[in-house]
Formats: sequence, C-alpha cells, structure tokens
Amino acid sequence: MLESTLVLIKPDAVRRGLIGQITARLEARGLLVRGVRSFVFTDEMLRANYAHLADRPFFPELAAYMKAGMTVALWVSGVDAVTVLRRTIGDTNARTAAPGTIRGDFSTSTQRNLIHASDSPEAALVELARFFPDGPTVPEDPAIVAQLYSTNEL
Ligand code: UDP
Ligand code: MG
Repeated sequence: MLESTLVLIKPDAVRRGLIGQITARLEARGLLVRGVRSFVFTDEMLRANYAHLADRPFFPELAAYMKAGMTVALWVSGVDAVTVLRRTIGDTNARTAAPGTIRGDFSTSTQRNLIHASDSPEAALVELARFFPDGPTVPEDPAIVAQLYSTNEL
C-alpha cells in the first residue's frame, strides 16, 4: 500500500488562480490524487488543523487568512508521500524555500505560502480522516502504481 498525505491548496493560492498549476506539479511528479474536496475553513476546523499554533501571536491573522476564501483539499498517495510532499512544497518561510519547490516558485511569504502538507505519517492519518471522513474517492489502481514504481519500492 502506498503512503497517503493531506494537501491543502490554501485560499491565497485559490484566489491567485494556482489550483491547476499546483495540482499539475503533483500529478507530473507521479503522485496520485485520489480525492478532491473544496470548502471554506470554519473556526472549528482551524482550531483542529492549527492547534500547534493557537498560542502564537500570528494566530489571529493566520485564522483570518485561512477563512478568507475557498480551500481545496487533496488526498495524495505515493511511496513516502509525506516526505515527498514536504520536500515538494518547500520551507514554511517561502523566502528560504528552494527554487523548484511550490513555495519557492510561487510565494515570498511565511504566512501566505499557498499550500499545506501533513508533516508526519501520524499527522497525515489524523488530517486525512478530518477532511476525508469517507476515505479516498478511488482505491489505488495497481496498473498505475506499476507504471510509477519498481516492485522492490512497494
Ligand atoms: N505561519 C505563519 N507565521 C509563522 C509560521 C507559520 O503565519 O511564523 C502559518 C503559515 O501559513 C504556515 C502555517 O502557519 O504554513 C502552519 O505553520 P507550520 O509551522 O505548521 O508550517 P507548515 O507545516 O505549513 O510548513
Ligand atoms: Mg505544519
């Protein structure tokens, strides 16, 4: 079974018209998008997703930013998907994110950094259950997986 992780295309990315470009990069990498949802963050969802930051001085502005528009959630699967996604999105501070990463190519902000990806396999399980309570829309397709990986990687 492939590893799965939660990706959020945040409201700044949606407003800037980057849903397609961001998703295309993940697809081109060979990651499998197995579920897509869109919604506007509620306070309850924010408290759950950003509990680790609730005491930080920037939390009120972070909350306002995340509630300001539509978010797109993706269920993304691949071998070592959590690590691959974290490296693909780049540093939290987009000013130090490496060129070639999504943040490094499309943002220069620490807050308005366009995209979220779960930071550990444990967090991914919790976050996927939060945003996709019914699981992914489609199962893994063995034919596609066989195109993407050798058998000894699986
Ligand atoms: N954030 C912020 N100021 C900071 C650190 C984080 O506004 O100094 C925001 C930013 O949008 C970031 C989110 O809070 O993506 C979650 O922070 P975390 O440390 O979990 O970073 P991430 O996992 O998104 O790289
Ligand atoms: Mg985080």
